[in-house]
Amino acid sequence: MHDSMEDYDIVIVGGGPAGVGAAFTAAKLGLRTAIIERTTLLGGNWTNGYVLSILGVYTYDGSQKITGGIVDEIVAELKERGGTKGQSGNFIPFRPDEMKLTLSYLAAKYGVVTYFGSLVTGASVEDNRISSVTVSGKDGTRTLRSKFFVDSSGDADLTYYATSSVIEGKENAGWHQEATLPFRVGNVDEEEVIKFSKAHPDLISVTLRDGRLERLRIMPPLVTKAKEVHRLYLPDANAEFLFNTSRKGEFVCNATHIKIRDFKSGRELAEAINDLRHQVVSSVNFLINEVDGFENAYLLDSASGIGLRETRRAVGEYVLRRSDVLGNARFDDAIARCGHPIEIHDPEKGVVYVHLEGGDSSWYHIPYRAIVQKGVGNAFVIGRCLSAEFDAQASARVTGTALAMGQAAATAAYLCMRDGVRAIDVNIKELQTVLREQGMLI
Ligand SMILES: Cc1cc2nc3c(=O)[nH]c(=O)nc-3n(C[C@H](O)[C@H](O)[C@H](O)COP(=O)(O)OP(=O)(O)OC[C@H]3O[C@@H](n4cnc5c(N)ncnc54)[C@H](O)[C@@H]3O)c2cc1C
Repeated sequence: MHDSMEDYDIVIVGGGPAGVGAAFTAAKLGLRTAIIERTTLLGGNWTNGYVLSILGVYTYDGSQKITGGIVDEIVAELKERGGTKGQSGNFIPFRPDEMKLTLSYLAAKYGVVTYFGSLVTGASVEDNRISSVTVSGKDGTRTLRSKFFVDSSGDADLTYYATSSVIEGKENAGWHQEATLPFRVGNVDEEEVIKFSKAHPDLISVTLRDGRLERLRIMPPLVTKAKEVHRLYLPDANAEFLFNTSRKGEFVCNATHIKIRDFKSGRELAEAINDLRHQVVSSVNFLINEVDGFENAYLLDSASGIGLRETRRAVGEYVLRRSDVLGNARFDDAIARCGHPIEIHDPEKGVVYVHLEGGDSSWYHIPYRAIVQKGVGNAFVIGRCLSAEFDAQASARVTGTALAMGQAAATAAYLCMRDGVRAIDVNIKELQTVLREQGMLI
């Protein structure tokens, strides 16, 4: 077995939106930064899971920008590559390959050391600090030492290995949000779809921008009828939502759904993704056969990885509550804003939205303590595995917010290293000042 030691200032476990937010920020601050990713691309659900929309940058009604900083750099680079046209209502749609290129370009530009095909499988803790992580890959096992660590694995893997201070699924029930395999269709005749929607507003609703088809929703009457006569295999959904990816005639669809009992079971994941692939093919055939404008459309591709919305979360120094989210909470130790409703893909009830009490133009704060690992002096936990109740995570998990948490964690690590203090003892006022200087909105 190959066994080598490497030393960094900050090691980031997981290269999804949260992880890249942390990595780019840390490297820009001059920290020796490593990001460890088990697949062979950066972007997590964005690129591996075809979540082709950045939510969380704007309030839910799209009226106000609430997240800045690294997300603005990523979007600017994407625009340069023709991968996005920017804001569309409350989100930023983009194309996946341009996102892959953008993220690897920025990682190289800022000097982030990237490990692909590398799975973190353990952590050593000494004197209430993580001293190293164990990374398994084709070359055996590596030990990466670092002054600070960030858990952006989505599954709270690092937190689990370091402290076991984690919770899975819905409290006292154990079930998870349903998983999805998004897919893209190409060669959609947008004008025909618009005509069809005018003739059948009960069957399909559309959103136009500058006369162009931006989003469409195939309504329950059409979907359930097709399911009843076995022309559509879509067991856990009764509508199909598609949005344009920034290229004429190209749309992404998030309709497929499946229940997840144990996200750690390789066999269950294999069975789930096989079922989802059947749903993808059936959905495309349904669109071609039942919706005007799709006659010459085709399946462009589907995500390579299963889209897991929620698996395991940390129990950190503060647990973000459902009441904080719905009540538009403000915190003295705020590090980011989020305006997304609670959005639960419930295995029994379908997709359930609970909107913030302040309305769709309102937002709440993410407190710093919700991204600090409990009882560990030098570790953060960010993104969809932040320290939050199940319902609160169902809001705070969106990717714009995940990026912002990453930016805050890396900046806090930088200040803690400079001052020789534990994560929980950061000078919060200075952290907020630096984040604002970096363009973040708090
Ligand atoms: C189908 C679907 C639709 C969604 N729609 C939207 C949307 O429209 N807009 C939006 O903003 N959000 C959306 N979300 C939510 C969003 O995708 C996630 O909450 C977000 O990706 C969280 O980012 P993250 O970096 O925390 O986690 P992830 O994106 O899950 O990234 C985690 C990364 O860590 C890696 N990793 C995991 N374990 C290890 C390990 N032990 N060692 C090394 N690497 C590891 C993974 O391979 C992955 O790359 C959606 C989610 C799903 C599943």
